[in-house]
Amino acid sequence: MKDLYGREIEYLRVSLTELCNLRCRYCMPVEGVNKKNHDEMLTEEELLVAVKVAVSLGIKKIRLTGGEPLVKKNIIDIVEKIKMIDGVKELCLTTNGTLLSKYARDLKRAGLDRINISLDTLDPKKYNYITRFGNIEEALEGIEESLKVGFDKVKINTVLIGGFNDDEVVNFAKKTLELPIDIRFIELMPMYDSGDFNEKSFMPCKAAFDILKKYCDDEKISIEKVDAAKTHAVAILYKLENAKGHIGFISPVSCDFCKECNRIRLTADGKLKPCLHSSQEICIKGLNEEEIREKFIETIKMKPERHARLSYKDRSEAKRNMNEIGG
Ligand code: SAM
Ligand code: SF4
Repeated sequence: MKDLYGREIEYLRVSLTELCNLRCRYCMPVEGVNKKNHDEMLTEEELLVAVKVAVSLGIKKIRLTGGEPLVKKNIIDIVEKIKMIDGVKELCLTTNGTLLSKYARDLKRAGLDRINISLDTLDPKKYNYITRFGNIEEALEGIEESLKVGFDKVKINTVLIGGFNDDEVVNFAKKTLELPIDIRFIELMPMYDSGDFNEKSFMPCKAAFDILKKYCDDEKISIEKVDAAKTHAVAILYKLENAKGHIGFISPVSCDFCKECNRIRLTADGKLKPCLHSSQEICIKGLNEEEIREKFIETIKMKPERHARLSYKDRSEAKRNMNEIGG
C-alpha cells in the first residue's frame, strides 16, 4: 500500500519485547524498563494477526527486534509461525548476538532469512562498558555460530560514538576482509534519554568514511562504492579490494532517508508507529482482525513526509527509548 507521499510501504519492524539482557548506554536506562503488565503487551496471537493483516496490505519484509528478541520465550515458535504466513517474503532479526550461539541453528531451521548483529566495539573492556556488563565473547561466538549454521549476508551494526569507537573504524572495516559479513556504521540518534551521550558523542558517517578513506589511501588499498540500485536504500555501501563483505554507512541524523522510507513499526505493547521519530502511536491491543486492518491503513496514511530535525538540541519526538520502540 502506498502512503500519501507515494512511498510503497513494504517493511514492518516488530518489537517482540522491551526487555533486554544488556543495557547499552545509548539505548536503555541502567535500571532497565518498568516492566509493564502482561495484559498491556501484545499477545502472540495478536501479533500473528497483525502480521497477517500487514502482509495483506503489501508488507513483504518483517524484522523482529526489541529490546532483545532472543530473550522472548518461544522465539523459535514465533519465527516459525510468522514465516508460515503467506506473503512474508523476507523474515529478519536484529539481535545483540549474545544468545545466538544457543539459538542460531534453530532460528535457521525455523525459516529466519537474515540476521543483523549489533556490536559497537571489538575491545572486551569497551564492550563491557558500553553494554554496562556484557561479555564480548558471547557476541563474537554468536556471530561465528550464525555463519556456521549457514546464515549469509550477516550484518554487523555498529553505532558510531565519538570518543568511544572512532578509533575502531578501520579495524571494523578490516573484518570484511576476513569474514563474509557486512559492517554497517550507524549514526547515534538522540532518543528520549540516550544515556550519557551528548553533542561530542555524535559522529557523522562522513567523519568515519574520511578515516577509512585516509587509511585506504595510505595503505594503497582500493575502496569502491557499490551501486545503490543493487542494494537497499538506507546504507551507502563500499567494498574494500578483495573483501568478502561490504562496509555501509547509515546516516539517519546528518542525512535522513525519509524520502525512501518504506517502513512502519509495531511496538511490543501493541502501538503502530508510522515513523520512528514521531510521537504518533496507534493502538491495536485488544482489537479484532478487521479493526487491526483499519488501524494499519490509518497508520500508513498518517506517515509524515519527514520527521523533525534531529540533533542533540532537537531530540527525537518519539518520547521513547530505542528498546521501547524496536530499533
Ligand atoms: N537488542 C537488539 C540489538 O541490540 O541489536 C535489537 C534492538 S536494538 C534497540 C536495535 C538497534 O538499535 C541496535 O543496533 C542498537 O545499536 C540500535 N540503537 C539503539 N539505540 C540507538 C540510538 N540511540 N541511536 C542509534 N542506534 C541505536
Ligand atoms: Fe539491549 Fe539492543 Fe538496546 Fe543494547 S541496543 S540495550 S542490546 S535493546
